[in-house]
Amino acid sequence: MSQRIRPRKLIVSALIALIGFILVVVIGNIVRAPKQKDTTKTTTTQSQAAGFDKSRYPLDQPNSIWIVVNKNRSFNPLDYAPADLVNVGGGQRIRQEAATALQQMFSAALGEGRQLQALSGYRSYATQKTVYAREVATNGQAIADTQSAKPGYSEHQTGLAIDVGGGGCGIQDCFGNTAEGKWVAAHAHEYGYIVRYVSGKESITGYRPEPWHIRYVGRELAAEMKKQNIQTLEEFFGL
Ligand SMILES: [Zn+2]
Repeated sequence: MSQRIRPRKLIVSALIALIGFILVVVIGNIVRAPKQKDTTKTTTTQSQAAGFDKSRYPLDQPNSIWIVVNKNRSFNPLDYAPADLVNVGGGQRIRQEAATALQQMFSAALGEGRQLQALSGYRSYATQKTVYAREVATNGQAIADTQSAKPGYSEHQTGLAIDVGGGGCGIQDCFGNTAEGKWVAAHAHEYGYIVRYVSGKESITGYRPEPWHIRYVGRELAAEMKKQNIQTLEEFFGL
């Protein structure tokens, strides 16, 4: 009997050792697996962050396509005027690069049956001075400040912003409800434009929603803002 028990004991010991080995390998993999995933995740996040260079263009130089102008950020010099304004129809002018993108956007919209018009593009420091003074005279300064910029503080002075209309609505709230306004909200970023003043961001931009006011920032930035679901330049750049 004792001679038979020994081989059994050996087999049992071998089996226990084998099961033990398998358990160590399996548990080892389970424990290691999440660590490997985390490493991959971290690497991806880092490469995405490194992929977009937020300092590529200056935010404070008037001729930069990333210039951020708002109620706290004026032009330097205050009466800056862009040198490359071109006609975009409707008697309006904007800067060359923005104009090319706008024309591409307008023809793409037209291809889908949405007819857009250029209503108000570049405005000089002097023009804005008149516009603002008229607003203050009509509505008082508090109301004027929510819908009109002080001279030297208007995005229209960049030559990169334009008010558009269509669907029977001009520079008014109704534009957001037209098929044209909805098309602009959905597609502007594909052409390097953002809708600059959106609902819910009044305290950040300083303006009530203006679905008609679009701002050229270039395709790269517009796409990145869309991807990150960030609607304002102030939030994107942490200003
Ligand atoms: Zn505007």
